Amino acid sequence: MPPSSMMVVSQPAKRCRKCGLTKPVDLFPRNRQSSDGHRARCKPCHADDVRQWTHAKPERLERVRKRVVEWKPQHPEMRHANERRRRRERWRDDPVFRQACRERWLRYRQKNVERRAAAYRKWVRDNPERARARNRRWAARHREKTRAKAKAWRMANPARAQALWRASRSRRRAREQGAAGKTKRAKLQARWDYFGGRCWICGGEADSIDHVIPLARGGSNWPSNLRPACLACNTRKGVQPLAKSSHAPVHPLPHASTKTNGARSSRAE
Ligand SMILES: [Zn+2]
Ligand SMILES: [Zn+2]
Repeated sequence: MPPSSMMVVSQPAKRCRKCGLTKPVDLFPRNRQSSDGHRARCKPCHADDVRQWTHAKPERLERVRKRVVEWKPQHPEMRHANERRRRRERWRDDPVFRQACRERWLRYRQKNVERRAAAYRKWVRDNPERARARNRRWAARHREKTRAKAKAWRMANPARAQALWRASRSRRRAREQGAAGKTKRAKLQARWDYFGGRCWICGGEADSIDHVIPLARGGSNWPSNLRPACLACNTRKGVQPLAKSSHAPVHPLPHASTKTNGARSSRAE
């Protein structure tokens, strides 16, 4: 390499014999035959040479095209990578293209609200932990919104909100008072099945677990004190023990036909 072509750069540079520009050697195609391991013409110039050589004769062009057609299906990942790189560069350099992409994305969003919602629901189903973490992060960032939303839900579902509030309060109280007993999930399920999933007071469909003797009156968390109940009965009953309320059980127990209702309602099993 003649000294006149050297540039003051950390990387060795050389001058392209075709375009006359001085560039780092990296920008010259590798070539084992030449003394410095790179071609004399820079990459763009070399590509231009190859193109001209190929297009000079129709049979050459035909041969190259055939080779490309064979190569393509065998290297999909490389083609996709190239395509992505081209799009990235265009996105970076072409503001019109960038704007068009943005508009297309917005149109897609507007047109596929349902589809995107379904995809999101599927993601939530497949990644429950990540979805919960995501919700927590969102709630922490949008505290006011979260509070307003919860309030709106409580206004729209007063009975359910009250039942949930009661349930959480009784759980907390049970913890604080150290109420006796605990019930594993499987036992609770067995309890639920024993009553056929019906409310033990009205016989309707149950959707909550009732403490027959309320925790506030010394009731326990043992399975014997737990029965399925509908929210309406559970809420109406509140902390009154059943014997003192006007809602005596009318739903017969499957295995307790010999017992009297009074005996069952006045004490825990
Ligand atoms: Zn060049
Ligand atoms: Zn009921």
